[in-house]
Amino acid sequence: MKALVKERPEEGLWLKDVPEPTVGPGEVLIKVLRTGICGTDLHIRKYDDWARHTLDLPLIVGHEFSGHVVEVAAGVEDIKVGDLVSGEGHLVCGKCRNCMAGRRHLCRNTIGLGVNRDGAFAEYVSIPASNVWVHRVPVDPDIAAIFDPFGNAVHTALSFPLVGEDVLITGAGPIGLMAAAVATHVGARNVVITDVSPERLDLAGKLGVTLALNVAQTPIADGMKQLGMREGFDVGLEMSGNPRAMREMIATMTHGGKIAMLGLPAEEFAIDWSTVVTSMITIKGIYGREMFETWYNMSVLLEKGLDLSPVITDRFGYRDFDAAFDTAASGRTGKVILDWE
Ligand code: NAD
Ligand code: ZN
Repeated sequence: MKALVKERPEEGLWLKDVPEPTVGPGEVLIKVLRTGICGTDLHIRKYDDWARHTLDLPLIVGHEFSGHVVEVAAGVEDIKVGDLVSGEGHLVCGKCRNCMAGRRHLCRNTIGLGVNRDGAFAEYVSIPASNVWVHRVPVDPDIAAIFDPFGNAVHTALSFPLVGEDVLITGAGPIGLMAAAVATHVGARNVVITDVSPERLDLAGKLGVTLALNVAQTPIADGMKQLGMREGFDVGLEMSGNPRAMREMIATMTHGGKIAMLGLPAEEFAIDWSTVVTSMITIKGIYGREMFETWYNMSVLLEKGLDLSPVITDRFGYRDFDAAFDTAASGRTGKVILDWE
């Protein structure tokens, strides 16, 4: 089969012929239909410091995918050949205290698909049945391919109650855009999203946000005045990983405000801790998705009319992966999809 392989310890990815994966005990073999390109995949292609320290080569990359089940190991129930599925990319141990308590997203022994073991940018991928999400409600295979980052968005957005709240989202990358769509859909009052990319802020406009603010030009406080907001945001969703965004968020929260932080900063940075303390701000870190409560939430949100289609802006055949990766790396688009059919 064809697969995108990180073959050598240098910048690049290579389309190779590799053996099809086999189905081990408890596993499911999936014919991949579509895959989504994530920031992690860009780091791997670039072979930056993080990739150098994390990866064992060669490695088939990729963890965002949808596909059809083609083979199921003996004893696997409730998953059938022909099912349209997505995959949870965090493979957990099932034995640690958190796993035993059903908090699998907190497993300390998590293995990342396409990072710590061969991934899904290939014609076929085999994963444990316990990582398979079967789409029982019809869903477009392109949307099914981005359930992993959609899950990051939903996990973060639903961390705190949003109904009637004023919500600030910093970062209008694919995940920030999806979080904005979710916050609007579930009944937040004002949804303000910030970025420094005009193209991404235009996309946010298509998702029904109240205000898409270019913080390179307009301070958040000006946006709040425009909306008649006097006290500050009730909920903040940090989705940029940018220190300035986090500082501005803390400065514009209401007393008792709640921040869910998904964005991964590249390094340590200082924030105004005295405001966190005296305004009694809660900051909650978010990693991955809850298995499988977030997945259930995602399916129901789509069933109840959430429209994510504007978030996917570019589609390429898998042979054009280099152009697709360049597009994703430009930082000006929504989600970029590779078609493996
Ligand atoms: P992305 O890099 O595509 O988007 C980040 C956006 O933030 C960009 O559009 C950028 O222009 C914008 N930005 C930069 N400076 C800003 C500022 N001062 N104010 C507002 N916006 C600013 O990333 P993504 O794929 O959408 O992911 C969002 C973040 O979540 C990233 O930091 C990523 O590393 C992180 N992430 C975390 C997890 C997790 O499990 N915690 C999972 C996936 C991604
Ligand atoms: Zn575990």
